[in-house]
Amino acid sequence: MKTVYMDHAATTPVRPEVLEEMLPFFTERFGNASSVYGLGRDARAAVELARRRTAKALNAAREDEIYFTSGGTESDNWAVKGAALAASSKGKHIITTAIEHHAVLHTCAFLEKRGFEVTYLPVSSDGFVTAEQVEAALRPDTVLVSVMTANNEIGTIQPVAEIGRICRERGVVFHTDAVQAVGNISLDVQEMDIDLLSLSAHKIRGPKGAGALYVRKGVKIANLMHGGAQERARRGGTYNTPGIAGLGRAIELAAQEIPEHAEKVRALRDALLEGLMERIPDVTVNGSMKDRLPGNLNVGFARVESESVLLHLDLLGIAASSGSACTSGSVDPSHVLLAIGRTPGAANGSIRFSLGETNTQEDVSRVLEVLPGIVSRLREMSPFKAE
Ligand SMILES: *Cc1c(COP(=O)(O)O)cnc(C)c1O
Repeated sequence: MKTVYMDHAATTPVRPEVLEEMLPFFTERFGNASSVYGLGRDARAAVELARRRTAKALNAAREDEIYFTSGGTESDNWAVKGAALAASSKGKHIITTAIEHHAVLHTCAFLEKRGFEVTYLPVSSDGFVTAEQVEAALRPDTVLVSVMTANNEIGTIQPVAEIGRICRERGVVFHTDAVQAVGNISLDVQEMDIDLLSLSAHKIRGPKGAGALYVRKGVKIANLMHGGAQERARRGGTYNTPGIAGLGRAIELAAQEIPEHAEKVRALRDALLEGLMERIPDVTVNGSMKDRLPGNLNVGFARVESESVLLHLDLLGIAASSGSACTSGSVDPSHVLLAIGRTPGAANGSIRFSLGETNTQEDVSRVLEVLPGIVSRLREMSPFKAE
């Protein structure tokens, strides 16, 4: 059975060029990148090449504004906690949105327990916040604004440049989680007035466990890691040389390929949506189809549970996901779908298909071949009958 992978927002396969870049650092080029002898300097050169490539992909003014981390979660934690702690003598107010990744939201909740106040901006029914909302929420004691570039569940792309401009004018640090945006839309940290930007390698066909935080020069953030002089003593820990080398190659290629990549996955995504709409009644799209990541499709199927649909798809070798978190047997509806006004029932009947470079028209056809039958059989068994 050929598997059909449509969960690229969860993770992506490492591409051959990236694997090739990484392999020597597991074997003959194994040195510690902080050691002074030849083997160490060789590994360090690879780290610095990756830094140059990452800085270039974001149009950072300086290479030393890139700090390597273990991934998106760490970068988000560091940005939010680090900026909040560094500025806590100035103020303890943070602005974010209701649809951020949990790496941001749970970090904000952690800070709330320690005396910070957090404004969670609501989003429109199609999944956007506006720069005006951010501006209206700013207070004299606001020390950080964190708004994601693109949402991982519904793919909506936020007006980050406008938000950045307002934050810059008001002297407030601006963080954006760009984990889903990198490689899909072009990013320019200078043009967009971004102070802190999180990214992750495994979402762009790089390895798991590697990521970066862009920290604009002059922006103050407290350290999360203590001990170790790596990353200018701001993020200690022995360099993950293979992961960092892989990240550098992955982001370089992803940034170069944005136009072709976006066009390809958008065409497949649109064909999938059109086919689903034709074949299945009572399908609704979650989030706007404008200003949306090209590979993201999130659709609600009335009167079914997404977990049942996903299990049936899995039996046929098709991987997709729902935004719901299954905790101790009960399903918590996605906070993103609730924030755009979906009922808990509608949220639990929603599925995210995230398409990527490895998908083909045959993959789309396969989903269109089997999904209508799965949905209609589940609906026949459903206690929630059509009106
Ligand atoms: C995947 C993801 C993260 C977490 O990144 P990891 O590298 O898996 O820790 C954070 N934010 C967004 C928007 C994501 O999609």
